[in-house]
Amino acid sequence: MPIGNVREKVLYGIGKKRGSVHRYTIYRWIVGVVFTIAVALLPTLNLFRFDLWGGHHMVLGKEVDLQTAAKAFGYPFMAVNIGIVIASKFVGRYLCGFVCPHGALSRFAEYTRYFGKHAGHRFAGEAVIFVVCMLLGAVTFNFWVDWRVFTQGSLVAKLLSGGFLLGVAGGWYGLLRFLGLGFCRGWCPSGVYFAVLGPDSYNGIEFAHEENCTHCKACEKVCPVDLNPTEMSGGAHREGMGFYSDGLSNFALCLRCGDCVNACEGMTARFDTETPLRMGWLPEGARDSKPPLEDDDDEEAPTPAPATTEASADEERAAAEPAA
Ligand code: SF4
Ligand code: SF4
Repeated sequence: MPIGNVREKVLYGIGKKRGSVHRYTIYRWIVGVVFTIAVALLPTLNLFRFDLWGGHHMVLGKEVDLQTAAKAFGYPFMAVNIGIVIASKFVGRYLCGFVCPHGALSRFAEYTRYFGKHAGHRFAGEAVIFVVCMLLGAVTFNFWVDWRVFTQGSLVAKLLSGGFLLGVAGGWYGLLRFLGLGFCRGWCPSGVYFAVLGPDSYNGIEFAHEENCTHCKACEKVCPVDLNPTEMSGGAHREGMGFYSDGLSNFALCLRCGDCVNACEGMTARFDTETPLRMGWLPEGARDSKPPLEDDDDEEAPTPAPATTEASADEERAAAEPAA
């Protein structure tokens, strides 16, 4: 398990105490479902689709040749990417935190694993993830190949199409099963590109009320990319991982997923004070994302969070329970 179940347990314990799903989780699922339905409808309504089998490429309801279809796909795709870069520059990596389907599904996979206390539960959880991956494979397939290949195509075309469908679904399943949020932490090439291009956005995580912090470290334990959310300004940075070099600050690496704010709100809810962490528009000092100092060797390395066991996570949840 790439992230370990401490993150899941802390978030679950906090959610149970709160008695409701956190607003950021609701936002994430609304965006994910709307985005997936929109992508699924494009080829279904023949607004846009390739047909790598029969050559019946469609753009706005009309059949076109491959070159026209490629242009109709390529230009908007470039425009969307430029828009993403500009958005990352000004508002940060919300695409990673709230739009990317991999992030939402990885959280769902974590959740099903957490409830896998018995073989039956684990099997049901894996089955749900597998069905979701098959649906995503079908959405992808629908974009590139006409389904009639399975009734009218040659044996070779059927085999290639079946392999493509199962390959996409299997790829999604493998990614969720073996990397999960670890992919966001070290291996997502798009994430590197967003982090490098938009390191000092005007929106993100702020340690706004340090005086109210209880130093419970719940925010660190739930961060899917191993950041300390209380160190988001001044060029603080974590060790490089995967595709990420050492030179990127915490501020640039932050996915803007809000899991740390979720945890912090839960851990401090019993106090009549403002939550130490917040996510939103930032004052000038809080977006001060200076690059790491050159002479890092002389500096003390950031103190890693202490190893946490399941027992200590349980103790933490118990400590977070309001006094009777
Ligand atoms: S610091 Fe907070 S918002 Fe940023 S990636 Fe970590 S948990 Fe998500
Ligand atoms: S979760 Fe909140 S209270 Fe706990 S260490 Fe983080 S900022 Fe401080």
